[in-house]
Amino acid sequence: MLLSRLGTTLLLMLSGISFAFVYALNLEQGQDKGALYHLLNPVIQDIVTAEAPADDLLPAPTSLSAMVAENRAALRRAVFVSEEQRDGMIRRTLVVGPGETLTSRLMAGGITRTEAAKALEAMRAYVNPRKIAVGQKVAVLFKRGDTGEVFSGLELRADPTKLVTVARLSEDGFKGQTKDVIPEKHRFAMRATVQDGIYESGLRAGIPAGVLNTLIKSYSYQVDFQREIKPGDRFETLYEQATDEDGHGVGDATLIYAALQVGPKILPIYRVAMPAGSFEYYDATGKSVRKGLLRTPVEGAHLTSGFGMRLHPILGFSRMHKGVDFGAPSGAPIYAAGAGIVEEAGYHSGYGRYIRLRHNGHLSTAYAHLRQFGRGITRGARINQGDVIGYVGASGIATGPHLHYEVLVDNQQVNPLTVNVATNIVLEGKQLMAFQDWRSKVHSAFEQLVAEAEARRGVKVAHNQINGEVAR
Ligand SMILES: [Zn+2]
Repeated sequence: MLLSRLGTTLLLMLSGISFAFVYALNLEQGQDKGALYHLLNPVIQDIVTAEAPADDLLPAPTSLSAMVAENRAALRRAVFVSEEQRDGMIRRTLVVGPGETLTSRLMAGGITRTEAAKALEAMRAYVNPRKIAVGQKVAVLFKRGDTGEVFSGLELRADPTKLVTVARLSEDGFKGQTKDVIPEKHRFAMRATVQDGIYESGLRAGIPAGVLNTLIKSYSYQVDFQREIKPGDRFETLYEQATDEDGHGVGDATLIYAALQVGPKILPIYRVAMPAGSFEYYDATGKSVRKGLLRTPVEGAHLTSGFGMRLHPILGFSRMHKGVDFGAPSGAPIYAAGAGIVEEAGYHSGYGRYIRLRHNGHLSTAYAHLRQFGRGITRGARINQGDVIGYVGASGIATGPHLHYEVLVDNQQVNPLTVNVATNIVLEGKQLMAFQDWRSKVHSAFEQLVAEAEARRGVKVAHNQINGEVAR
């Protein structure tokens, strides 16, 4: 910023303009580079194109003071990134930059220190003016009066759901208040390439964590993430999320569609609302992706010991291994393999911290050696498939952190890897036709968003080029 100011000062001096002019341009402190650029660009052009005779470099005194006044006004305007006029009010927006205070920005925008202090005092009960985040947009309101513009209030979105307003009451009084705002929802299309894990790669691409969790859970019935997903595999998502005033996503997001490349295959899933207000994800053929039980109830795990007779690693003699072991780091979340009721959650000698879930009259699953139980996991609690019920540990008799997982049919342990408990929903007839219609709508929405994003990126590149030229 200093460099750019030096540069413009130099330019102006070279243009042969008096120091009074340079002083006027540097008078106001705190304007950011962008604002300075917007301000100076037309001014410099004016100077360059106004070809004054060599012997008459200085404008006449009256004209000079007019120019100084005009440039002060231009500086004030440059503080604001946008201006709108409505119902006799002028609404100008400023952005608080790094190292700036709202007071300094307001003063740069032509508001006196006293007026700014009064307005901010009225705001204090709802948002601390000293803790305004960098990048916060603040609308500054002016009323056109007989003697010019009168500063008449402020408006800012303190968070996406809260609008704080400050309005002038009288000659020198301001009143603050706050109002709840329902944030707008928008759809986002994202494409990502797997580098390390799908979760990490997705986060880097800007996909919300909640969307990635849903995606991983939804695919975990058919995809073994550990073995089947390779670096370079691609995936795409369409999700819906509330947005702040700048259109950035905030809060929980809903996954609407995803497609995951697994080797040569592309596996799409689509969210479909169900009559009871719940929802399901379906594959392209209209079959629900959710099966009876999750294939791997712990994320990023690999099978370390199968079901059947084995030499026990600690006890030292052969005995039946009544479940399967998944190696996973201590603390990794364990998901409920199916929806149901917590039948047991407690310490169980060799099993250590142990949870058993009942899914229906015949089927239950058990989870052992937990480090910790999930929040609210107590006997009788109702849980959904994929809920975090606990965390991997090594409690009880265990050589190291792992999940011992059992599937029980009529209270008898069976091999979790071969048991057939699949209960897919398959859409047919009218439902299937409605689904196919929805599926093509989802695809066109995705393609349209991608096209828009690419167009925007094009503009961004052009914009950077413009700035680059200015910098030179
Ligand atoms: Zn085991």
